[in-house]
Amino acid sequence: MKALPMRTCLGCRKLFAKNQLMKFVLHQGMVVHDSKGTGQGRSAYCCNNKNCLNVFFRQKKKLSRAFRVQDGQIGFELKDWE
Ligand SMILES: [Zn+2]
Repeated sequence: MKALPMRTCLGCRKLFAKNQLMKFVLHQGMVVHDSKGTGQGRSAYCCNNKNCLNVFFRQKKKLSRAFRVQDGQIGFELKDWE
């Protein structure tokens, strides 16, 4: 039996099964919620918890690192999860 892939929530830093987390991808410089799971390339994960999402979107540095872009070169598209 294959182990479920685990990912870290960038909000609380806890490990979750990948399918329990919200996946975010970088799309044209914007961090967007990849609700269909079809996004390509690097991704960042956050558990479905308002506090974590708040932390998640405040951690621009970590997000920049997760997406391998320079600090300040990412924007946020929040309407998807609000
Ligand atoms: Zn979390």
